[in-house]
Amino acid sequence: MPEYKAPLRDMRFVLNEVLDLDGHYAKLGLEEVNSELLNAFLEEGAKFSENELAPLNRSGDEEGCHFEDGVVTTPKGFKEAYAKYVEGGWPAINGDPEFGGQGLPGSASIAISEMTGTANWSWSMYPGLSHGAVATIEEHGTDEQKNAYLPKLTSGEWTGTMCLTEPHCGSDLGILKTKAEPNADGSYSITGTKIFISAGEHDMAENIVHIVLARLPDAPKGTKGISLFIVPKFLTDGSGAVGERNAVACGSIEHKMGIKASATCVMNFDGATGYLIGPENKGLNCMFTFMNFARLGTAIQGVAHAELGFQGGLAYAKERLAMRSLSGPKNPDGPADPIIVHPDVRRMLLTSKAFAEGGRALVYLCAQLGDQVKLARDDAEREQAHDLMALLTPIAKAFVTEVGLEAANHGVQIYGGHGFIREWGMEQNVRDARISTLYEGTTGIQALDLLGRKVMMTQGQALRNFTKIVHKFCEAHADNGELKELIDPVARYNREWGELTQAIAMQAMQNPDYVGAASVDYLMYSGYVTLAYLWARMAAKAQEQLAAGTGDEDFYKAKISTARFYMKRILPRAAGHKGAIEGGLDCLMELDQEHFAF
Ligand SMILES: Cc1cc2nc3c(=O)[nH]c(=O)nc-3n(C[C@H](O)[C@H](O)[C@H](O)COP(=O)(O)OP(=O)(O)OC[C@H]3O[C@@H](n4cnc5c(N)ncnc54)[C@H](O)[C@@H]3O)c2cc1C
Repeated sequence: MPEYKAPLRDMRFVLNEVLDLDGHYAKLGLEEVNSELLNAFLEEGAKFSENELAPLNRSGDEEGCHFEDGVVTTPKGFKEAYAKYVEGGWPAINGDPEFGGQGLPGSASIAISEMTGTANWSWSMYPGLSHGAVATIEEHGTDEQKNAYLPKLTSGEWTGTMCLTEPHCGSDLGILKTKAEPNADGSYSITGTKIFISAGEHDMAENIVHIVLARLPDAPKGTKGISLFIVPKFLTDGSGAVGERNAVACGSIEHKMGIKASATCVMNFDGATGYLIGPENKGLNCMFTFMNFARLGTAIQGVAHAELGFQGGLAYAKERLAMRSLSGPKNPDGPADPIIVHPDVRRMLLTSKAFAEGGRALVYLCAQLGDQVKLARDDAEREQAHDLMALLTPIAKAFVTEVGLEAANHGVQIYGGHGFIREWGMEQNVRDARISTLYEGTTGIQALDLLGRKVMMTQGQALRNFTKIVHKFCEAHADNGELKELIDPVARYNREWGELTQAIAMQAMQNPDYVGAASVDYLMYSGYVTLAYLWARMAAKAQEQLAAGTGDEDFYKAKISTARFYMKRILPRAAGHKGAIEGGLDCLMELDQEHFAF
């Protein structure tokens, strides 16, 4: 497997140049945060990811996790790498200083999450879920709960989980059955089975804090009757010391297609002691703090697999010799040309590069919006960032993972038959990527969230807020002759996006099923257009830097060139999705269930 090299230059370009984080932090009044600090983080994060985590990626996949009598052992080296991660203070970057955190905004650590995740996605899920648990307790917990759990979760000595899924339901949490019965002392007795719980049990931390959805007795049916609880593996008196073992245990771990080194656990709650977080029956609302966090985390996974597919594919395409270029030999002294000369191999490489770099820009933009939601001093600015982030989250989660999976597949294809063979690592990349479009809400569920909740339920306002931003950008560059071929298509698709949405809304008034028929194509359409905007923004910044003569010409020229590839070869896919939407609902519904197979 090619060695993972953190794409630091590109990360800096997005963070410092395109998103101008220095200006962003100054506006938020965060004087102590700046690109110098971020650069130091990037350097150290790259070293840790490349040297400690990447070497465990393949061995972790081959060994997997072990389960015996309720005990889960992670693959060799995982526990030690986690200890180093904790020792290095990495888990605490974003934590509240009151509980031992460094108090830095989410955008300051987004690239670290990308690097650890790309180096070893399975490993990164253990600390990854803890961050969501911290955010949920910070936002919804009582002072007592914060004091009891946040210091150890923030330091990484304890880890967290997210317990939603049950054997009979994942997407439809309204039908979950886990019960929570009140105890005399104000705690609750939690009984039920949760499945597919990532990091539900492992040997890396002293305690595991489960964040669990359950129903109170007589709670209303459906999503309005769900409450949220903290259920620790070991009870604590609030001092940070672990006490008695709670009645929650791992029943087994799953044997999976990919991310084999991440423990996916069946968790049995057998009258376990739990503590209510947030108001009764509002648990799903509170859990959205965790879910939105995890969705952005999963979007990073899309970038990670695109980047690995690209890095692996590029190294191989430069070395592997096969046939001659159609326009004449490019390596006349060799027996054949390197496959990178062939247009079709370049198509696969550039597609992966465009998705990795474009996906990175989208995910980092979401992290920047997350800072504004939390820290902007102006109410209107906070609200605007919140609405934009709500719109972009399902696009980032579902679109970036779908195209990340495509790029991982290109990685295999570039290697030819060798891509199918284990030792090259490209097949692991595909297997690991496959889960990303499923968990944290499948692509289908994200698409319903985008079209139904975020677009239709706001009467298109959330979308208009975004298309206005894109429109302003296009207008500001309308006289830029050199970028015309990049800006014009963005402006055209941006206009069409609104028209397409209106057309869907009209059809949906006749039959609500039209929303479900259109949703995934709509999400993909939205993803291609969103990335086009970001590619145009990156190209404009690159052009500006070239004009200013800041050096690094090759990097900026490559940016503009990749943007051109995106507009000419990738963005037209949006038209196909529009066509599919216009294909309508009837052809999906006319076949009787009984007549699908004969
Ligand atoms: C490795 C792994 C790790 C996981 N980690 C966690 C975790 O840490 N915590 C946790 O709580 N869960 C976790 N999950 C569970 C995961 O989030 C769910 O599997 C996922 O949300 C889908 O739920 P489901 O499997 O019940 O599928 P279902 O809900 O049964 O869906 C089946 C299919 O039907 C489609 N579908 C369902 N409803 C609709 C609809 N209304 N319209 C259109 N299509 C629809 C879905 O898109 C899907 O394609 C994990 C799963 C795996 C495999």
